Amino acid sequence: MSLEFVGRLERIPVYPAASTYAFDGDLVKLASNETPYAPHPDVLAAVQGALGTLNRYPDPSAGALRRRLAERFEGIPAERIAVGNGSCDILLAAAEALLEPGAEIVHAWPSFSMYPHLAAMTGARAVTTGLDAEDRHDLAAMAREVTAATRILIVCNPNNPTATAVGVDALNAFLEEIPRSVCVILDEAYVEFAADRDPDETLPLLARHPNLVLLRTFSKVYGLCGLRVGYALAGAESFRRAVDRVRQPFSVNALAQVAAVEALRHGDEVAARVERTVAERLFLDDELRERGLPSTEGQANFCWVDLGGREESAVVDGLARRGVIVRSGADLGSEGHMRVTFGTRRENEAFLAALDDVLEA
Ligand SMILES: *Cc1c(COP(=O)(O)O)cnc(C)c1O
Repeated sequence: MSLEFVGRLERIPVYPAASTYAFDGDLVKLASNETPYAPHPDVLAAVQGALGTLNRYPDPSAGALRRRLAERFEGIPAERIAVGNGSCDILLAAAEALLEPGAEIVHAWPSFSMYPHLAAMTGARAVTTGLDAEDRHDLAAMAREVTAATRILIVCNPNNPTATAVGVDALNAFLEEIPRSVCVILDEAYVEFAADRDPDETLPLLARHPNLVLLRTFSKVYGLCGLRVGYALAGAESFRRAVDRVRQPFSVNALAQVAAVEALRHGDEVAARVERTVAERLFLDDELRERGLPSTEGQANFCWVDLGGREESAVVDGLARRGVIVRSGADLGSEGHMRVTFGTRRENEAFLAALDDVLEA
């Protein structure tokens, strides 16, 4: 006799883990869109200060963190702010609260590898749309897919893995067309990295569109992905109540709560990281173009590179053998590409040297 699992289990895709974890030694880790910089020293001190009370459960309402977020995002009350064990936790909870057999979810593809889980795990139907010629979300195509059964529509902006973004005016016009019964999740995991736009320019959309949810995270620009904490700013309190209801009460651990509160005090550090990231983006875009490998018009901390017909596995595996781990396009929904996270200048130079070696071989 063997264990008998639910029928939908087989339909849940296995998350494509980066090959980073398969290698030992001194690697250049450019596969997971992490920041190469350690957390701010004050964040580390706050975490250390909380270690002695780990015998206590964390605050299930994450009250201090939600109040700090409400101060940071003026006009969004704590009642409309959900926090989660990473923003993926909120995505999964939204699926549990909104999807069921007969319901539909619309998202683009290629986009974030988590999205296919949401339909698979709930028995809902996933409707995917392609990207436009510039590898951006095709909002018109997405709007056309909305039916009476649509419960969730996700726009990943900037999009992972293509790094491209759509502007706030296009988003607003799009939201005007979408029925209020559809929960539109704008996944803004990389929103802070844009060079020429205010990361908070989508906040006013929440007042106009109560069905909108802005999903953000401490994993990327704040460099806290190892702790797992993300948040959602919702147009309606009902979203926060629903995702809280379907999850275990203690989903965000005590250290993550303390670290996130402290990280929010260091906006200057975020700005400095963004500046460094934008400099690396310009550097790598130029260097790759010189090698005949164009990347998309990116707004994130990674680039999406068209390998121009070269065999993808030869490039990606060749880099790995030289200690540089990047993400294969095939894993992310588009063979013939690679996704490269920006590291420090030293790491990016190591990537380029390894790449030259691979291209010559
Ligand atoms: C990295 C990423 C997240 C963040 O996930 P966490 O669970 O907060 O670590 C969310 N959405 C996208 C598109 C991402 O790339």
